[in-house]
Amino acid sequence: MRARVFGSTGKEVSAIGQGTWNMEKDGRRAAIDALRRGLDLGLTHIDTAEMYGDGKVEEMVGEAVAGRRGEVFLVSKVLPGNASRRGTVEACGRSLKRLGTDHLDCYLLHWPGSHPLADTLAAFEELREAGKIRSWGLSNFDEDELAEAIGIAGEGKIACNQVLYHLQERAVEHAVIPFCDEHGITVVAYSPFGSGDFPRPASRGGRVLAEIADAHGATSHQIALAFLLRFPSLFAIPKATRAEHAADNAAAAGIHLGEAELRRIDEAFPKGPRRRGVPTL
Ligand code: NAP
Repeated sequence: MRARVFGSTGKEVSAIGQGTWNMEKDGRRAAIDALRRGLDLGLTHIDTAEMYGDGKVEEMVGEAVAGRRGEVFLVSKVLPGNASRRGTVEACGRSLKRLGTDHLDCYLLHWPGSHPLADTLAAFEELREAGKIRSWGLSNFDEDELAEAIGIAGEGKIACNQVLYHLQERAVEHAVIPFCDEHGITVVAYSPFGSGDFPRPASRGGRVLAEIADAHGATSHQIALAFLLRFPSLFAIPKATRAEHAADNAAAAGIHLGEAELRRIDEAFPKGPRRRGVPTL
């Protein structure tokens, strides 16, 4: 598995990880087995959130990582509505319990909310000092919101910004990714396959992906991941409840696209306009 340094943590983390949103709707057994298969194959970066299945998904992740917590870079998120100073600390405690662990590797604010950001960040620092989280980050933050967070916490504190990024939604390339690169903040691409809305094989873009996939003996999904990972500081967290999908995603780490291939994909999936605010999925 290709590993990269995860922002200010200095830790090497698998560039391709495992998302868990909506997993409670899939078969519990299948989802846990797929997560474990992913771990076997080096997809050791697991992303979850208190929101997912109202805590049910964190319990499933807890079961999947039981006995192998040391292998995992475990990330969860506090809901903005819970992100007061005290609420964040309490929410983290509930997540740790459901996950069956005594610490998170990274804890994120799920999206900007109405509690003062300074209070949420103070809670993150309190949790870090108490050893309950090893690092903290943000999610769905624009560049000016990130600048505000740096103004509060200082440089070098924000480990990552988790953002929507896939072939048909490249808005973060305009300003968010450059800002993060400049400030040493890792970018984690969520919904890297468009949350199930993957380019159809018959579309122009779908045909380009299929042709490049054929040349690599790969799948179109693997080519899509390889394209996102062309940014050296970027991570991606596809969700796979089918174990064969987890295996495909792990194998994508070995695919390197040439300049001409990158250019073809870039042309087939134009960057589109800059957008602001939390995307609606
Ligand atoms: P996604 O990863 O873009 O797409 C998931 C879909 O792709 C599922 O239907 C899955 O099928 C399928 N799939 C996975 N690997 C595949 C492969 N190799 N070949 C073919 N199909 C494949 O969707 P997502 O769940 O929206 O995003 C990923 C993760 O990002 C989430 O689970 C969550 O952890 C995180 N996220 C964060 C935020 C945020 O606000 N911070 C928002 C959305 C998502 P199966 O499941 O049937 O295998």
